[in-house]
Amino acid sequence: MLTIPASRANVYTGSPLDRCSGQRDDADFVAAALANEFAVFAPVWRARSLMRGVEQGRPEAVLLSRSGAEAVRMAGGPWALLGLWGDRPVFAVDCSATDDPLPLLATEMGTFWDLRGVAGLLPEGEASVLAHARGLMHWRLKHRFCGVCGTPTEPRSAGNATACPSCGAQHFPRTDPAVIMLVVRGDACLLGHSTRFPTAMYSTLAGFVEPGESFEEAVRREVMEESGVVVGHVSYHSSQPWPFPASIMIGFHAEGLSEKITIDREELSDARWFSRDELHNHANLGFSLPRADSIARRLIEDWLAT
Ligand SMILES: [Zn+2]
Repeated sequence: MLTIPASRANVYTGSPLDRCSGQRDDADFVAAALANEFAVFAPVWRARSLMRGVEQGRPEAVLLSRSGAEAVRMAGGPWALLGLWGDRPVFAVDCSATDDPLPLLATEMGTFWDLRGVAGLLPEGEASVLAHARGLMHWRLKHRFCGVCGTPTEPRSAGNATACPSCGAQHFPRTDPAVIMLVVRGDACLLGHSTRFPTAMYSTLAGFVEPGESFEEAVRREVMEESGVVVGHVSYHSSQPWPFPASIMIGFHAEGLSEKITIDREELSDARWFSRDELHNHANLGFSLPRADSIARRLIEDWLAT
C-alpha cells in the first residue's frame, strides 16, 4: 500500500488572511474595513497581478492604498474583501476595464504579471493572497448574470457572493476540482507528455472530476482514458489551490495494476514508465520535469524520496 505524506506545503497554500467569513454579511463591519486607513487592495488586471522586482528575480506583491485602488478601478469594476491580514483589511479590486491601469497610479508601482510565472519566488503568504484575489475577481467578472433567470446579479457578502434581484437566487464562487496523480508500479512511475506541452516535459496525469464521481474514481478513470493503465489503490497526498481560472488540484499517488500503455492521442503524444534513475538523470536524458513549485513535481519528488 503506497501512502506518501507531503514533505512540505504547496505553493498558493498558507494564506495569512483571516477570511472573516462570519462577518462579511455585516454591513457595519464591511464599511469599517473599507474606511480603515490601513486597508490595502490587491489589483487584478485581466487575470494579472501587480508585482515589483520580477525582472530582478525578487518579486513581491504590490498592494494599493484606497486612493490607488479608486484610481485604477474604472467603470465600477468588482471588488471584494479577502480578509484581515493581522488588523489590516485586504481587498481585491478588478481594473480590467482600462487598457492600461499603470499610468493611473500616482507613482511607479510595478507591473502586472502572470502570477504563475513567479509564485514560488514570492515572500511567504503573498502567492496565496494574489491567487485568492485573482480567482475571486475572475468569478465576479465571468458570472455577472443569474444562472437561473439571466438577470444581472448584485454583489453580496463584501463581494464574496452575488444575489439575483429578480428571482432571489444566490450564487457563490465556483471551484472546479481536478485530480492529479503519480501512478507507481514497482520501482517505476508513469508520466506523460501532453500535446499541449511546448517543451520535452513529462508530467503526472491529471483531469477534471465529473459530476457524481469521487476523487478516487476520477483518478482511475482519467488514468485509464489517457494511458490504458489499470489503477488499484489510490492514496491522498496534498492539494494545491489552482485559481487559473477556477480549480483546485487534488494530488494522489496511485498503484498501477497493469503495465501496458495505450495512449489517448488527443491528450498525450507520449506516456512511459520511468525508473528512479531516469528521473534523477532527466536533464542528461533530454527531458524535463514539471516546475519546482507545482504539485506535479512535489508528487514525483516525494515518491523519489521514499
Ligand atoms: Zn435570477
